[in-house]
Amino acid sequence: MTLSFSELALVEPIQRALRAENYEHPTPIQARAIPHLLAGRDLLGIAQTGTGKTAAFALPILQRLAANRVPAPRNSMRTLVLTPTRELALQIAESFRVYGRHLGLRTAVIFGGVGQGPQVDELRRGLDILVATPGRLLDLHQQGHVRYDALSVFVLDEADRMLDMGFIRDIRRIVPLLPKTRQSLLFSATMPDEINRLIGTLLKDPVRVEVTPAATTVERIDQRVMFVDSGNKRALLASLLKDGAIARALVFTRTKHAANRVAEGLAKGGIGAEAIHGNKSQGARQRALGNFRDGRTRVLVATDIAARGIDIDGITHVINFELPNVPESYVHRIGRTARAGADGIAISFCDHSEKAYLRDIERVTRQKIAVAAHAFQRPAGQGPSNGHAPSAHNGHAHNGGHNGHAHGNGGRHANGRGGEFGRRRSRRHRGHGRPHGHAPSQPQA
Ligand code: AMP
Repeated sequence: MTLSFSELALVEPIQRALRAENYEHPTPIQARAIPHLLAGRDLLGIAQTGTGKTAAFALPILQRLAANRVPAPRNSMRTLVLTPTRELALQIAESFRVYGRHLGLRTAVIFGGVGQGPQVDELRRGLDILVATPGRLLDLHQQGHVRYDALSVFVLDEADRMLDMGFIRDIRRIVPLLPKTRQSLLFSATMPDEINRLIGTLLKDPVRVEVTPAATTVERIDQRVMFVDSGNKRALLASLLKDGAIARALVFTRTKHAANRVAEGLAKGGIGAEAIHGNKSQGARQRALGNFRDGRTRVLVATDIAARGIDIDGITHVINFELPNVPESYVHRIGRTARAGADGIAISFCDHSEKAYLRDIERVTRQKIAVAAHAFQRPAGQGPSNGHAPSAHNGHAHNGGHNGHAHGNGGRHANGRGGEFGRRRSRRHRGHGRPHGHAPSQPQA
């Protein structure tokens, strides 16, 4: 994809903002969606986080709002973006601010779990862009703080996740409140039936843009599985983290309790780690994310829900301390590394009870994950945890076994030797993305 942003007919103030972010070329979803969105078409975007989908909708929306400057009346917004989590809402609003920094448009974000006073004040001034989670928006609507008559663009982000999290009812209540004449966009990583039905009521003659998430994300990531007894997982994690080349690691657990225990165990062992999950206050989550983003904490331990939409550059490693029981979550998890053109490394711990999860993941990603040796495995033939025959599971070398094996990734992984996981494999240029090796960056306010 060698298209430039100017070829996409984006105006100079937007291009300037993108240059400041070191975006050189549009990502595939941006190249395909932006021309249609500038022309005012509805869009069905089948894409997950990490593909550049936020800019794919934010850039044309900003451009159209700036080209037609009409002040939004009190309590109303010209664009409404609905997204399932507060973290995503904050990040999307931040993206609008960053990309639109030279346009002088007004953006605000509303979500639950915090006082509503400042949000009501923001709404009262009238907004060009409102990014919201559905529950709080309905709350404020019922209190008479929200009007929709100035709305011209509606974005439903992460629709499948909305469904998973039980927000579809809220969406069905919000949509009839919106003006019939509007531009509508729906993004979803997957297309369950319920979302397909929603499309009929939401979108008019939409352009469909699909960027194959599993294949592209998964293919770029150096993935390994380590068979380990559950009782040895914490020691294995601590030993991996001794390698200083693991600069910034996101560690996943299935439960909040496990996230806390893993983070506490690491912190006790002198490794800077914090946990984020749904039981933590909004303030605590934001603080932990900020510390991780700024490099004050090296390891963030998260559950799947808490990690949705975490958009932090420079995550060198994703470590699945526990494998997810939903295979798609594996793809979402490892997609936190290898953002926008950078490569990443994903290591998964698999104990005996998780082998079925591993099989499901390999089926969904249509890839065998290479098995890596480590210091905490049982010698071959002792018990179930790693007692599988070296090649029975997936044909990979095992127990220190070694490169020459055929592998879905062309055998390009370093394999089974100590210290290899700290090193990022050579990066391939992908024609988009930030310049490789950039320092972790924070969007500006
Ligand atoms: P998203 O899929 O919207 O969550 O975006 C994923 C990441 O890609 C974010 O960190 C964006 O800042 C970054 N990004 C989006 N578009 C581009 C681009 N054209 N070039 C480089 N990075 C980008």
